[in-house]
Amino acid sequence: MLTCDDYLSPTTLDAAFEAMAANAGRYRLVAGATDILPWAREGRAGDVHIPVMIDIAGIPELNTREIEGGRVRLGAATRFQRFLDDPKLSKAMPVMPRCAVWFADDQIRESATIGGNLVNGSPAADGTPALLALDANVVLAAKRDGKIIRRKLPLANFALGPGKTAIEPDEILLEIECDALPGHGGAFEKVGHRRSLVISTACVAALIEIDAKTSTIRDVRLACAGIGPVPQRMEALEAGLKGKPLSESVLGQAADAAPDFVASRTRQDYRREVVRGFVLRALINAARRAGAGHKLISSEFEAAHV
Ligand SMILES: Cc1cc2nc3c(=O)[nH]c(=O)nc-3n(C[C@H](O)[C@H](O)[C@H](O)COP(=O)(O)OP(=O)(O)OC[C@H]3O[C@@H](n4cnc5c(N)ncnc54)[C@H](O)[C@@H]3O)c2cc1C
Repeated sequence: MLTCDDYLSPTTLDAAFEAMAANAGRYRLVAGATDILPWAREGRAGDVHIPVMIDIAGIPELNTREIEGGRVRLGAATRFQRFLDDPKLSKAMPVMPRCAVWFADDQIRESATIGGNLVNGSPAADGTPALLALDANVVLAAKRDGKIIRRKLPLANFALGPGKTAIEPDEILLEIECDALPGHGGAFEKVGHRRSLVISTACVAALIEIDAKTSTIRDVRLACAGIGPVPQRMEALEAGLKGKPLSESVLGQAADAAPDFVASRTRQDYRREVVRGFVLRALINAARRAGAGHKLISSEFEAAHV
């Protein structure tokens, strides 16, 4: 069971840092609590008493949602449900609704934040590969020597290993910055131990842009999680696809190379098979959503692999 003496809900960033400084060594930050609560409740951490919980979800800087100059600025307290019900977000980040639709259920999605997902550092966190595909950076803030200072780092350098990230104990994850890609088609494939309310054991995020005149792949981004210690971009596969005419065989070749990315020591054969299938399915789905017609990808090929 999780207990606390004080539950604080600061409404400004400064007040949050004051609460952190005043309760150094005895607080824990919380946003949607969908990772913290089960961690305590399922007894994995035993009976947990955290003297002070500091709920940062109501701080305005953590609730930014701006799309400008080809980039998205997204507050860390953005709930997963927003990727489904905010049309501007889903258009600018075409992989996120595909990720959110398989994320938990309505109730959890209404609480779970994108920031909590990244900071929790699960190797199978769905938000990380989706945001890696969008070339995301994270913006972290701390109050040091009386000043709030911010630093930005690529998301790829933030996830360090299972449960480990580059966040410092005095930092808050403020926002995520990433590309706005309204012309891309997006896809997200995942598998877990059951179909709903599932935490992924492996997942793949894909984004594709197709040149309508030449039918070539103008841009492609692929990222995966759950097959190694940290989520990663599949750059070697992207390089094999970019600039090529879109065809079933080109997509098939990329998928055949996908098992090379499996670094997990357990269930290797299973993961290799899954990731091959997911890359192909994600590429087909993303290409269709980017406008690829049946001349480029036949219904038979789609039916066989999606
Ligand atoms: C039934 C169920 C189903 C789930 N399904 C999925 C799923 O499909 N896919 C998936 O990826 N996850 C899933 N999860 C896990 C969880 O919902 C997500 O990881 C969620 O995004 C965590 O966000 P949160 O706001 O609830 O985090 P919290 O539990 O509030 O916090 C998690 C950790 O992050 C820290 N933290 C949170 N926000 C910040 C911040 N802004 N700055 C610094 N530190 C911060 C907290 O201190 C804590 O250590 C599921 C959980 C449950 C209970």
